[in-house]
Amino acid sequence: MSTYRAPLADMQFVLNELAGLEQVASLPGFEDATPDTVTAILEEASKFATEVLDPLNATGDREGSKLLPDGTVRTPAGFKAAYRQFAANGWNGLTKPSEYGGQHLPQLVATPIEEMWHAANMAFDLCPLLTQGAIDAIELCGTPEQKAKFLPSMVSGAWTGTMNLTEPQAGSDLAAVRTRAVPQDDGSYKLFGQKIFITFGEHDFTDNIIHLVLARTPTAPEGVKGISLFLVPKFLVNADGSLGARNDVHCVSLEHKLGIHASPTAVLAYGDEGGATGYLIGEENRGLEYMFIMMNQARFSVGMEGVGLSERAYQRAVAYARDRVQGKAAGAEKSVKAGPIIDHPDIRRMLMTMRAYTEAMRAVGYVTAAAIDNARHAPEASTRAQHQAFVDLMIPIVKGWCTETAQDVTSLGVQVHGGMGYIEETGAAQHYRDARIITIYEGTTGIQANDLIGRKTARDAGATAGLVAAQIDRTAAHLASHADPSLNAMGLRLAAATASLQSAIDWVVQTYATNTRVAHAGSVPYLKLWGLCVGGWQLARAAKVATEKLQAGDGDPAFMRAKVATARFYAECLLPQADALAQSVVSGSATVLALSADQF
Ligand SMILES: Cc1cc2nc3c(=O)[nH]c(=O)nc-3n(C[C@H](O)[C@H](O)[C@H](O)COP(=O)(O)OP(=O)(O)OC[C@H]3O[C@@H](n4cnc5c(N)ncnc54)[C@H](O)[C@@H]3O)c2cc1C
Repeated sequence: MSTYRAPLADMQFVLNELAGLEQVASLPGFEDATPDTVTAILEEASKFATEVLDPLNATGDREGSKLLPDGTVRTPAGFKAAYRQFAANGWNGLTKPSEYGGQHLPQLVATPIEEMWHAANMAFDLCPLLTQGAIDAIELCGTPEQKAKFLPSMVSGAWTGTMNLTEPQAGSDLAAVRTRAVPQDDGSYKLFGQKIFITFGEHDFTDNIIHLVLARTPTAPEGVKGISLFLVPKFLVNADGSLGARNDVHCVSLEHKLGIHASPTAVLAYGDEGGATGYLIGEENRGLEYMFIMMNQARFSVGMEGVGLSERAYQRAVAYARDRVQGKAAGAEKSVKAGPIIDHPDIRRMLMTMRAYTEAMRAVGYVTAAAIDNARHAPEASTRAQHQAFVDLMIPIVKGWCTETAQDVTSLGVQVHGGMGYIEETGAAQHYRDARIITIYEGTTGIQANDLIGRKTARDAGATAGLVAAQIDRTAAHLASHADPSLNAMGLRLAAATASLQSAIDWVVQTYATNTRVAHAGSVPYLKLWGLCVGGWQLARAAKVATEKLQAGDGDPAFMRAKVATARFYAECLLPQADALAQSVVSGSATVLALSADQF
């Protein structure tokens, strides 16, 4: 069986050489993120991932979380203890403000750590992931009293948070939310309704759970403009911080799922016994806006789930491919009777594909994390705005492309195993099953693609998209004129892909204005085109750094050579899909709509 090992060398390379850790650490307030501190934190996290979380991944999948007759939920053996250790080690509050007990580290430093948790045990990490989003929403929109009462316990991990959007009739379309919030004389509200699919909506990790719930007040206007955000604790909290009465929110069932079995996905009933006490967060009717604060962070994190799962699937596939002996590889010496499957060229193709996509996604994720830090903390307003525009463009790409690509990578992981990949014992199937949800929750790929073509491309007539494409093109031009032949070849491939991307941007801008329906028909290929190109961009940058380091005799030469080879594989074998995707966007979108609904 393979054991997860955090890819620390690649993580450090991306942090330092591509994402600019040194620059991020120079932002006000991040002085503690020195290279030595970051190295030590990553090493500690990697131990926790390997020693505590990874061993629980398969057992958690087999056992699953269970709803008990008394309405409580029992998580799989070992999970509660692991969570307590996780919280005690301070992993919950890495990026959170020190005034609430957090460590105020950059998002860039937290991102590889998050990747490790996702890789080692994604079902476990869903609990902290949603707590982070809830903390952000309370911190940004809550009253000083709400912050003082709830944040310290949430940052420490003593209490967890959830995100309650979905109802049976309201999934992608949150305008359809029906949960009611009735104002009370004391300023609180009573909530009535049902929420479904609530991740870690009930569990045994902690004594209290802080639900953030979308609901409508009696005078709210129809649609998304009439949704407010409420804080509903499982146990009410007394003025002195101690726990009070049990609130009227109860888990009525857990979903039976394809994957992430250890993560309890709850149906929550609000108000069956007279109303669940809730407190308005921020202003009435602005709930969706606030929820987006949580969702953007969560969407980024779900994209990183794609990276973590892909890395895990890759490591498992490599271990199996070294071990499994089957046949004689094409071109092997005559004396060889049979060898490990890693010698078969087609297995190499699969492993290279898995590796190249994973490294590209990691680089795209970390570079976006650095932009998130700059967008929040750069001293100049104009610099913050510039980074925010990049982040806004990248969030649907990180979420949509990394999660869609993880489907391919984890599927290849099964394929490398042959029949044993389909059998649960090897673990390859679990990654494939676990990965299947990530293109769905936090907004499906279709919803990410709507965001990318509408708000992120058409709204500013392609200005931000064009600026990023021009940046990619500059990297391509620089490499295309480089003396090194390998970089030269990569530069030419990247230039061709960027030209395809630009043609698709122009088409989206024009078509969105004239035929929005057809523009939407091309939105997912457009999103994938973006991901493919930004992935190629980051790997091209990586190849340049690695080549120069090799020439200067700097760093581990084997690592640098592998980096260049992986980037070249991506440029030659994966990046050419850009042309096909662009054609599908530009020439094929109208055909998507060729049949009427009754012809299906
Ligand atoms: C395991 C799990 C955990 C979850 N955790 C949470 C949680 O913690 N909190 C929470 O609130 N929710 C949670 N969800 C719910 C999740 O966010 C929704 O399932 C998701 O947003 C999709 O909504 P839906 O299931 O109603 O699908 P629908 O909205 O019915 O979508 C069905 C299909 O239609 C497409 N579609 C719908 N509208 C559009 C559109 N406008 N444009 C293009 N395509 C469209 C979708 O892309 C999809 O392919 C979870 C779900 C699962 C399965």
